[in-house]
Amino acid sequence: SATANADPKLQRRLADVKNIILVLSGKGGVGKSSVSAQLALSLSSPSPSRPVPSRVALLDVDLTGPSIPRMLGLDGQSIRQSQDGWVPVYADASQSLAVMSVGFLLKSKNDSVVWRGPKKNAMIRQFLGDVRWGSLDYLIIDTPPGTSDEHISIMEYLHPFNPKAVLVTTPQAISLADNLRSLDFCKKTGLPLIGLIENMSGYICPHCAECTNVWGKGGGEALANREGIRFLGRIPIDPKLVRVLDDAKEEVARKDGEVINNLEGDLRIMQ
Ligand code: ADP
Repeated sequence: SATANADPKLQRRLADVKNIILVLSGKGGVGKSSVSAQLALSLSSPSPSRPVPSRVALLDVDLTGPSIPRMLGLDGQSIRQSQDGWVPVYADASQSLAVMSVGFLLKSKNDSVVWRGPKKNAMIRQFLGDVRWGSLDYLIIDTPPGTSDEHISIMEYLHPFNPKAVLVTTPQAISLADNLRSLDFCKKTGLPLIGLIENMSGYICPHCAECTNVWGKGGGEALANREGIRFLGRIPIDPKLVRVLDDAKEEVARKDGEVINNLEGDLRIMQ
């Protein structure tokens, strides 16, 4: 429940959003956007423990490198303006996954955005306050890598709505200063960390389905243990992943089963 100091515009749009989750990573290229997309797809798909799919929205706030539209096969789609604000793009016919990305606002997918602070701020406020989010179980926000002005601005707007975070790392992450900076950001801004996800953790051979630990294993888990953070689970390197995000949603859902179970369980406890 939001407090009185919330931006009234945001208060109106986000009043019916149960969980806001910021997906963070210490640096780029660790799979933060892929993991955000997978979490959103899995949560919005039915499963044995979730017969009724959750209502999910995925907001891509990576203003300089929006990759969510491509990952979900939504390139070239655009946002519709209605009398009651922006209508997000839906990833599926049943409208259980709403997607919003600056990528939908660019004319060409090769365009990039070079915006200064105030304009970024205004964009973030528009994404949060001008979109018809409706009633949601989860609003998942794919944030830029590291900690940036965007993170500060998101936290200023969202603080009254009790957002939580997950940190995505790779197995080599154990001592990376970048991760510690993300953890420090959570502490300083009072952003509760649900836990850490180790991505690209081992390689599943497409021929024999055996898992090989190409870059070692467990660095993310070791980091979590050392910092007293909950370890949510690992997602292996899967050569099919890129393609899978394009077509088969059900297949994706199976990849991160452990992560999702832990995430849903912990959020219930944190309520
Ligand atoms: P980030 O958002 O952290 O910059 P991305 O999600 O864009 O990272 O991922 C970087 C690249 O790695 C992308 O090409 C993505 O498809 C690939 N990738 C991410 N996670 C996996 C995985 N578990 N298995 C295979 N490829 C992956």
